[in-house]
Amino acid sequence: MNKTPDKDGIRRYGKGHISNGMAEDKTKCQEEVSDGGRWLSYHQCRKPRGFGPEKQFCKVHDPKYIEAKDKARQAKWDLRHKRDRVQWAGHRLLRLLIRAAPHISDDEIRKEVEQEIIDLGDVGYLLAND
Ligand SMILES: [Zn+2]
Repeated sequence: MNKTPDKDGIRRYGKGHISNGMAEDKTKCQEEVSDGGRWLSYHQCRKPRGFGPEKQFCKVHDPKYIEAKDKARQAKWDLRHKRDRVQWAGHRLLRLLIRAAPHISDDEIRKEVEQEIIDLGDVGYLLAND
């Protein structure tokens, strides 16, 4: 994210009650990052700039990189959600198939379904009596 400069056009980092902050080092990434300590204090990212708009960011703070990372995380979450849905649908369909098996008129398909149910063993029994 673009850090807004002060009125004099200079970006300052780590401004607080006791400090006026450090003026921007124009060779470093312009992102402001947390010191990671007990107090909420910040400093300019220490990595060299060279990425993103006007090459003002380091690789990990490049807005395009952050966006791509967010998209990848979302895609991973979506896939997990789909897998969960398939798993639940599979459970319901299997129970339905156990009930429907005796009514399948095609001998070959019925025998195949019944064999699958037998192969399920305990799981098939649990599903049928769920
Ligand atoms: Zn950075």
